[in-house]
Amino acid sequence: MPELPEVEITARLLDGALRGATIESTLAPGINALKTFDPPLSALTGQTIAGVRRRGKNLIVETASAPGPDASKSASGELALLIHLMSAGRLQLFDKPAGPRDRTSRLLVRMSLPGVEDSMPGAEESAELRLREFGSKQAAWVKLLRAGELDGDEALAKLGPEAWPDPGGGTPLRTVLDAPRPLHPLLRDQRVISGIGRSWVDEILWHARLSPFKRGSDLDAGECERLREAMIDTLGGAIAHYEQTIRLPIPDKLPMPLRIHRHEGEPCPRCGTSLQAVHFDDYVIAYCPTCQTDGRVLKDRRMSRLLK
Ligand SMILES: [Zn+2]
Repeated sequence: MPELPEVEITARLLDGALRGATIESTLAPGINALKTFDPPLSALTGQTIAGVRRRGKNLIVETASAPGPDASKSASGELALLIHLMSAGRLQLFDKPAGPRDRTSRLLVRMSLPGVEDSMPGAEESAELRLREFGSKQAAWVKLLRAGELDGDEALAKLGPEAWPDPGGGTPLRTVLDAPRPLHPLLRDQRVISGIGRSWVDEILWHARLSPFKRGSDLDAGECERLREAMIDTLGGAIAHYEQTIRLPIPDKLPMPLRIHRHEGEPCPRCGTSLQAVHFDDYVIAYCPTCQTDGRVLKDRRMSRLLK
């Protein structure tokens, strides 16, 4: 489940490797992955990679017309690939093209890298940026936009402020989270604050010693400050961990340094109490009753529904 730290390390590694690379060809084998048709994917051919960055859980690959005498002939200008990995997508970089039977391929961008031959004699100088998706669902998506259309695209325009490195981005967290909704879904709502998903929300709430069911509008100033610190430490700590452990091509499975999420039944790393879980249809909340809910063990929602 790529969330802010996983998408951030992906953007950093790809940005370092691909700046200045020239796109040679593109292919979208995933029938549903490409959500736009104008400009066509072929407009990327001949463009150079200007940078790779993250916004919320989205990846943005920006390109520019290659400099030189033909630049005036290119009608494409600056373009941007906006990519959402959803729950099972990965954006990876390989030196060899994907095989035609690789059913995980959703988008392939073949490019030549500048300067590789000079620094590494005999090294492969081309590379393939590959959007892959694991599992049976096709949910990951790509849009090819003109650079000027990027900020107005609904996927970015509706995003709330970033959860890291400055949670709320200048707006006090108390204002950002001032809604009568439980913190667990509130923090995962990308329109409220962007970057946090089902895994890291458990770690952040545990770090802040806050109940997943406390309402955003009930937070006092001290609790907001704890939550702010928890977001910075938890998400920043994960990114620092990935900086040490993750390398290109970027592994299929990222070793997420989680201590609470999916650790129900194990002792709380802070107080030793057995971590508890509340199960929903498509996600699980893990928490420490001693640190977060004044000792209360919360009802299992699956069971509550059965008893209705
Ligand atoms: Zn605890």
